[in-house]
Amino acid sequence: MKILVVGGAGYIGSICAELLLDEGHEVVIFDNLTEGHRRAVDARAAFIEGDLANRQKIEAAFSKTRPDAVMHFAASALVGESMRDPSKYFRNNIANGLNLLDALVATGVPRIIFSSTCAIFGPPERLPIDETLPPSPINPYGESKLAFEKILRWYDQIHGLKVVSLRYFNAAGASAKFGEDHRPETHLIPNVLKVALGQKRHVELFGTDYETPDGTCIRDYIHIVDLARAHILALKSTKSEFYNLGTGGGSSVREVIAACREITGRKIDIVEKPRRPGDPPRLIASSEKIKRELGWRSKFQSLGAIIESAWKWHEKFPDGYAD
Ligand code: UDP
Repeated sequence: MKILVVGGAGYIGSICAELLLDEGHEVVIFDNLTEGHRRAVDARAAFIEGDLANRQKIEAAFSKTRPDAVMHFAASALVGESMRDPSKYFRNNIANGLNLLDALVATGVPRIIFSSTCAIFGPPERLPIDETLPPSPINPYGESKLAFEKILRWYDQIHGLKVVSLRYFNAAGASAKFGEDHRPETHLIPNVLKVALGQKRHVELFGTDYETPDGTCIRDYIHIVDLARAHILALKSTKSEFYNLGTGGGSSVREVIAACREITGRKIDIVEKPRRPGDPPRLIASSEKIKRELGWRSKFQSLGAIIESAWKWHEKFPDGYAD
């Protein structure tokens, strides 16, 4: 198939593009390079530099490439930032996303795989979080993704656009080629590994008084390659569906730091800080639906395997994608 990967120079998009190319698909990457990196564009892919704020540019890209499907990763994705600047989240993730959808409809692209998030749920009534739980986000990031999911349901009903939405829990790890390099980096695992590399003096631990066994937040870390494989399976889906995607296991912030110490063998100092606004205490996925319906399985179930892959990448590319 020919796939247009919007946001394909970013962390998740670059690795999905890599796997699509490995499987023999044709890939065109559309990215404005604000969060993404030119060096994260797979050499086998075609590249169009463009911004979703520019409707003409997107429509021109679709008319030129005529993809069979679009994977949409281009979004602002930081909980903390969304609590300070909600407008950025509603503008980028909803308004600019609408430009993309309208261009899809105008040019007759029949399907979209959408990068959604567990942040649509907020603190859940029960765990693990399955698709029957009512969404109720507690930060503008989750709200923007939930709003877009609702828009996608209407575009399916009215325009027949087929959508598979994947609500990622905590994407982590790396492939041999591509990894995580956000500027600034706010995510836990890369930040801990930067301390191991000696690039940061300590890791800040946000919140030690949560109602969890060790007082720190619990997240379901899913290996980026497992996550990318779910996108490829989603291409085969003929109906519109919304799936949660995680491993079903949870690790606390302290457990992640301990695992990083063990894998890297390096000293990692912690400075305890207050809670970060917008962080739910525990998020753990049920991925039963995607297992049942698309046959997805997690190959890298353990936190250790995830951190090892991330550590290999960070050791090989200590400056990430910097020149
Ligand atoms: N976290 C932390 N220190 C950091 C980065 C993150 O203590 O430098 C915590 C954060 O508060 C959350 C968990 O680690 O409880 C995972 O955060 P991350 O930003 O990696 O992912 P999120 O769950 O926000 O998508």
